[in-house]
Amino acid sequence: MAFNVLSAEISHETNTFNIRATGLQAFRDRYLLDGPAAIGARGDRNTELAGLLDAGRAHGWDITHVISAAAGPGGKVTREAFEALLSPLMEAAAVGGWDGVFLVLHGAMVTEDHADGEGEILRRLRATVGPELPVAMTLDPHANVTRAMCEHAQVLVSFTTYPHVDVRATGRRAAELLHRTMTGDIHPNTIRAHRPMLEEANGGRTDIGPMVERHAMARAFEAQKGVYAISINGGFPCADIEEVGPTVLVTGEIGNPDLSLMAEDLAEDIWRRRHDALNHYLTVQEAAAAARDWQPGAGSLIIADYADNPGSGAYGDAPALLEALLDAQVSNACFGPVIDPEAAEHLQDANIGDEQTLPIGGKTAPEFGGGPLRVTGTLIWRGEGRVVGDGPILGGQERSFGKTAVLRVGGIDVLIVSIPHQMLDLQQFRAFGIDPAKKSVVALKSMQHFRAAFAPIAARIIVCDSGALCTTQYGLLAYRNVPRPIFPLDENLDE
Ligand SMILES: [Zn+2]
Repeated sequence: MAFNVLSAEISHETNTFNIRATGLQAFRDRYLLDGPAAIGARGDRNTELAGLLDAGRAHGWDITHVISAAAGPGGKVTREAFEALLSPLMEAAAVGGWDGVFLVLHGAMVTEDHADGEGEILRRLRATVGPELPVAMTLDPHANVTRAMCEHAQVLVSFTTYPHVDVRATGRRAAELLHRTMTGDIHPNTIRAHRPMLEEANGGRTDIGPMVERHAMARAFEAQKGVYAISINGGFPCADIEEVGPTVLVTGEIGNPDLSLMAEDLAEDIWRRRHDALNHYLTVQEAAAAARDWQPGAGSLIIADYADNPGSGAYGDAPALLEALLDAQVSNACFGPVIDPEAAEHLQDANIGDEQTLPIGGKTAPEFGGGPLRVTGTLIWRGEGRVVGDGPILGGQERSFGKTAVLRVGGIDVLIVSIPHQMLDLQQFRAFGIDPAKKSVVALKSMQHFRAAFAPIAARIIVCDSGALCTTQYGLLAYRNVPRPIFPLDENLDE
């Protein structure tokens, strides 16, 4: 008999310091699809849904996928949006007849009403389907995983990579465990370990550094009997909530006392190496000096503005780095994105080749990364900012920057857009006539994901902190709800 599986995707990473609430339009801007549309657009890409469908096909499941919704990281999810996104799941759950539920969640959602958005989704789901029904979920390792999430789902599986390139594989892993749970082959639960920190020392990056060893350790633990999945979550620090920070999850057979030992072992390693930061954060002036001194023909120098990463809910409009690069008279360069819908709209009416003078960026929170920057440049591209990715993360997936323009200011092609996205795919420049591989200097807004597509074209990568909303100087943010003491806000923890 085929298993009946209900699935839904409701994904948001909420930066509680971002003053702009995330409403339904922000989900429409990224994607907000009913089941069949989601399967059409996302069912054969590097997505969790594709991994679920892979496993479902292999096991002959009947899958009812009711929604795929994600918004760019931003402020708290509005009550209206949260209730609207949940309703297809809750309606389908109430119909009954399910053998299991599969949820694609990010794990760091905060709503206007709930500090633990995912915990609330699961609490409501359980109230309808009861405590026993197998529930599996996938998470982004930038989840702030709460006790409620582990209490209400038997199986939780996070991506093992940052940049996140194993999204589909993670969907498949979680779905396989759901299958074994539905057949009665296994009886999993998930144990959580946590330390009082805002995030892992390197934001969870897995290309180099201590996470490489931790994941090797996790894979070795998973080879043991009764251990099914180990998730190492770097946490999401831009959330002023009680259950913030890194977690280690061990999904394994109920009653196995080794699960918590494994979780604690890995969590302790995250704590012990909390000072082992790999990035050296330059000031924008230092980054601009490196760009000025960069030799033409040496390949591309990539400068990442860590702090203004729209992928973590920064506004993406901080002009501090651009201003420093212009002051340093850097040439053959590109910069993107500047998220400024007003400027992007204004430029739609100009002709290609026109000279334009206007303020860009800095309009949301000048205290984080500077106020509007007045620039004069030549318009070289304008139109709808549609991108189809071709890199390891976004391959084949469509995204839109909304109204978009490229203004050549001095020697820098500046990408001005309306809808926030971090830079993680070369097509995000190429679609607008900018070839980053041919630029001496590529300045972009991203913390770590950019490496997947941009490292292959880079001769050198440097990272700066512009002081924008996702600054690593956490003392600049008004934390009120995180439990104290916590690292690194409270130095006495170092003793
Ligand atoms: Zn992530």
